[in-house]
Amino acid sequence: MSATTITQEPDYIPLSMLNALAYCPRRFAYEFIQGEMLYNEHVVEGTLQHQGIDLGGTAWLGEAVQERRVYVWSERLKLAGFCDVVEQRDGKLYPVEYKKGRPGKWQSDHVQLCGQALCLEERLDITIAEGAIFYFAVRRRERVAFTPELRAETERIAAEAQRLLVSATLPPQLENKAKCRDCSLKPLCLPDELRTLARRRKATWEDEV
Ligand code: SF4
Repeated sequence: MSATTITQEPDYIPLSMLNALAYCPRRFAYEFIQGEMLYNEHVVEGTLQHQGIDLGGTAWLGEAVQERRVYVWSERLKLAGFCDVVEQRDGKLYPVEYKKGRPGKWQSDHVQLCGQALCLEERLDITIAEGAIFYFAVRRRERVAFTPELRAETERIAAEAQRLLVSATLPPQLENKAKCRDCSLKPLCLPDELRTLARRRKATWEDEV
């Protein structure tokens, strides 16, 4: 009887999970590895705002043609998912992502958008210089240039996602209270409680030595 070798290709990472990982590795592990999701009013509002885009189809915006909900993937980076909108203007393509909130101080939305651009570039053998994020809270677009730094960071996060997937571990909570405050998984993750527990354990250990 001949020996059988079973090989398993790494799973493709959803583009939205690049966003989760860029925001917090623990959030990525909860959502993608453990399949946990908590719904609050912000998550539901975001889903409702997205409904028009999720219907797909083609639309015109001035001189631009918009294809909505476009499926893209990258074999090189093992990424797959949807672009909310791919806009064609002056013979160039621009991915456009729609977000509920306002432009933030974190780079996670930029990483998700850059992941979309990298997938489109690989599929179409083109270079995409920039895209945009439309924030519903301020109803305007933020332009995002796909700089070498942003591309490198996006590729690093795609590789880190594969590493976390294989390790199947839950990374520690962040020390960034501002991020935790805005995270929908806070009631599940309990970062403040874990920090307090860690401080108490450390104090007890120091008392004992
Ligand atoms: S609450 Fe903080 S540590 Fe926990 S998943 Fe969210 S961002 Fe990460």
